Amino acid sequence: MYCPLCGAQETKVNDSRLVAQGGQVRRRRECLSCGERFTTYETAELHMPRIVKRDGSRESFEESKLRAGLLRALEKRPVKTEALEAAIEKIRQELRASGEREVASLQLGELVMQQLKQLDQVAYIRFASVYRQFKDLNEFRAEIDQLAPHEALSHKGG
Ligand SMILES: [Zn+2]
Repeated sequence: MYCPLCGAQETKVNDSRLVAQGGQVRRRRECLSCGERFTTYETAELHMPRIVKRDGSRESFEESKLRAGLLRALEKRPVKTEALEAAIEKIRQELRASGEREVASLQLGELVMQQLKQLDQVAYIRFASVYRQFKDLNEFRAEIDQLAPHEALSHKGG
């Protein structure tokens, strides 16, 4: 690809490796003209279902929106970017595997919550509280209890 800095057409690949559990190829490139180094991520473009929103309108699946939502939930949480990317890839796989042409945004939200639950429970609760529109503390508590049914809230061990 062309150099994003100077526009030169000749760039070389210094390193190429699989990331996100094999779902992506990361390439480190170098411009032969200005010497700028940059990185590209390559993902297969496959058919993704369209998303049906709550009001019935349709929109294309946008990975950037998905990533933004996850990043918001994961803000300041100790989760590696690599783990986040793997979760996004998992969600994409699930969407493709559904074979549907359209998927309800609710269904997508459930997929996101499944992944967040494994990544980070605080992020999961953050996302769920917005997504499921918790009305009061009891709804939070019910969700948290469901996460850790065998641990008393007063547990102080460690
Ligand atoms: Zn350049």
